[in-house]
Amino acid sequence: SIEEVEDAPEDLKLRAPIVTVMGHVDHGKTSLLDYIREENVIAGESGGITQHIGAYGVTLEDGQKITFLDTPGHEAFTAMRARGAQVTDIAIIVIAADDDIMPQTKEAISHAQAAGVPIVFAINKVDKQTANPDKIKEGLASMNLLVEDWGGKIQSHDISAKTGQGVKELLEKVLLEAELLELKANPDRLATGTVVEAFLDKGRGYVSTILVQNGTLEIGDYVLAGTCSGKVKAMQDERGKNIKKAGPATPISILGLDGAPQAGDRFNVLEDEREAKQIAAKRSQLQREQSVRTQRH
Ligand code: GDP
Repeated sequence: SIEEVEDAPEDLKLRAPIVTVMGHVDHGKTSLLDYIREENVIAGESGGITQHIGAYGVTLEDGQKITFLDTPGHEAFTAMRARGAQVTDIAIIVIAADDDIMPQTKEAISHAQAAGVPIVFAINKVDKQTANPDKIKEGLASMNLLVEDWGGKIQSHDISAKTGQGVKELLEKVLLEAELLELKANPDRLATGTVVEAFLDKGRGYVSTILVQNGTLEIGDYVLAGTCSGKVKAMQDERGKNIKKAGPATPISILGLDGAPQAGDRFNVLEDEREAKQIAAKRSQLQREQSVRTQRH
C-alpha cells in the first residue's frame, strides 16, 4: 500500500470543516441540505450550485467555508467508515420538533459518537404549530445529551429547513465547533482524500467526485483510487466550473480515471503513472480472488 508522509506542523494551514447531515427519515435532512445549497445561506452568492456531485462547499459572509457531504443519512457515513474512510469532522443531526427522538436518530448519535465526531443538533420544523423543541431537548437530556439551553456543552439550534429560519445561526455554531477542532492540512503536497461517488457518464466517461483532504490536486496528476487509476484530464467544482487545482476540503468531480472507484475509497496522487497502474491492477486481482473465495464458501 501507499505510505502517507506526515506533515511538519509549520506546513499546516487551517482548512474548512467537512460536515455530514444525519437523522431519522423525513426529519428534514434533504430539505436542510437543499436549503443550504440553494441559498448558499450566508455569502448571499445565492444559487449557483448546479451540480449534484455528492458534496458541496459554501462560503460565509466573513469568508469562512464549510464543506457538506450531500449524501444525507448515515448509510453513506457508515459505508465510508466501513471502508476505513474518516471524512466527517462534524455531524449535524436533524431532529423534527413535531416528532420524537426516533430509532434512526439514536443510531445517528451513536455512529457519530463511535467515530468521535462532535454533534450539532438541528431541531427542525419549528415553523409548525405542532413543533415542541423543548420536548426534544428534554428527550436528549434523558439520554445524557445536554444541549446548551439545558446547561450542557452540546450545540443545538432551532431551525426550519422550509423557511430557512435559524439555518445561518446553525452554521455559525458548526463553525464554532470547527474552530475548537483546529482542522488543518498541508496544501503544498500531493493530494490525498476520499472518493464520494463515481459513475459512468455516456458522453464524458468515468466521473468521480472526490474530496481532497490533504494536499492540492492538479490537472495532469496521476491518481490512484481503489482499483482505478488515471491522469486527471479535467476538474469541475459544484458549480460546473472548470478548475485547475483543488486544495484541502474541496469537493470536485474529476475526469480521467479508467473506472468508477467506490464511495469511501482513498485516493492518492503518485509521481509515477506506471506505479499507479500496477497498484490498481494488483488491487483488482486481490478483489477478484477474494470474491472467488467468498463464492466458494
Ligand atoms: P429526510 O428524509 O430527512 O431527508 O427529510 P426531507 O427533507 O425529505 O423532509 C421530509 C418532509 O418534511 C418533506 O415533506 C419536507 O418538505 C418536510 N420538511 C422538512 N423540513 C421542514 C421544515 O422545517 N418545516 C416543515 N413544515 N416541513 C419540513
